[in-house]
Amino acid sequence: MSNLTIRPINTGFVTMIPKQYLYHHSTVAFYPDASDQEEEYPVFTYLVEGGDKLLLVDTGMAYTERADQYHHHGSRQPEGMAITEQLAVLGYQPEDIDIVVFTHLHWDHCFYMEKFTNAQFYVNRKEYEFAMNPIPLYYKSYEAPELGITRPFEGIEMNLVEGETEIMPGVRVFETPGHSVGHQSVEIDTETGKYICCGDSIFIMDNVKPIEKLHYDITPPNRFSDIVSTWKSIELIKERAESLDRILTCHDREILERSAATPVLGLKEKGR
Ligand SMILES: [Zn+2]
Repeated sequence: MSNLTIRPINTGFVTMIPKQYLYHHSTVAFYPDASDQEEEYPVFTYLVEGGDKLLLVDTGMAYTERADQYHHHGSRQPEGMAITEQLAVLGYQPEDIDIVVFTHLHWDHCFYMEKFTNAQFYVNRKEYEFAMNPIPLYYKSYEAPELGITRPFEGIEMNLVEGETEIMPGVRVFETPGHSVGHQSVEIDTETGKYICCGDSIFIMDNVKPIEKLHYDITPPNRFSDIVSTWKSIELIKERAESLDRILTCHDREILERSAATPVLGLKEKGR
């Protein structure tokens, strides 16, 4: 087993209306507590330490003005929460990061990538191709030049991967399309088993819950590029996960509590 460990890092807060965004409209009746008001959700990235190379899953969201102006209104990155600032607290400079793996290229997952001057960047080929030429519906998500802004991955050299690929020993990506056309998840081996960073394939853990009355084995979200792929990707992640608590989402608030209690995942408990 590998000695890799995983550190969740929250890079800010995006606003979403749970009933419109996190639950497919066919499922909202089964979640009466889901709000129809705007709420704040974290934006997690994951730092993988303990290997020969230092690896980051996603680089997180943009600064407040940009997030608020071009994206979900009210989204914010409080001072000290940018990925580079948080790495500094841990004693790392952006140049120390060897590898960045992107789950997808939406604005809240890949900001500040130009700061990581020594990193190799990995993204799914279909995601990159679509991100460079999105339909207008996704201009904001990918910060398309049509909006008069520069996309975060402009001029950045990418390693394009397809299918299941080993990124470094103990770290693999596999395709989980649906939230976006070329979305992928990252599977990481640790001393205590494997974890799956699922990006936005699963927004919140309610998305993995079955709804028997509808014959649903999951609760699909309401935001996707393709609902069939979304559904199959959630099933696949559930199947591959050793247990549900090994699934690491980017936006579920439960990760806030978990990471406060256990800042580093994959460590064997002392004395064992
Ligand atoms: Zn996201």
